[in-house]
Amino acid sequence: MGREGDPHGWHPPWCVVDHDEAGASARHEAEGVPIAVTLLEAQAGLPSRPTSAEVVAVLHHDGDGPWLYIGDGVRQHLELSLDSWRRVAAVANELIDLYDASARTG
Ligand SMILES: [Zn+2]
Repeated sequence: MGREGDPHGWHPPWCVVDHDEAGASARHEAEGVPIAVTLLEAQAGLPSRPTSAEVVAVLHHDGDGPWLYIGDGVRQHLELSLDSWRRVAAVANELIDLYDASARTG
């Protein structure tokens, strides 16, 4: 599956980059997946307020391994290794379950 000029000798099936195109990135990158979210938007001097927004999740692979970016592209993002995301997701699910349990019992 390797391509000419690919330093990794590997082109993952999820990569949407045409590396042969002039000026194309050398990194492997999946198509971004948009996610509708509600985020707590901070405003200088004002209370934070819930705001509807869209973030995008992008899987990519550079020379040093796979990464998953989730962010709004400007102000807020996390760009973590896949193992890190597994830990983040596990803790997030635990905390959401903890909240759900307390909400059920009042
Ligand atoms: Zn690629």
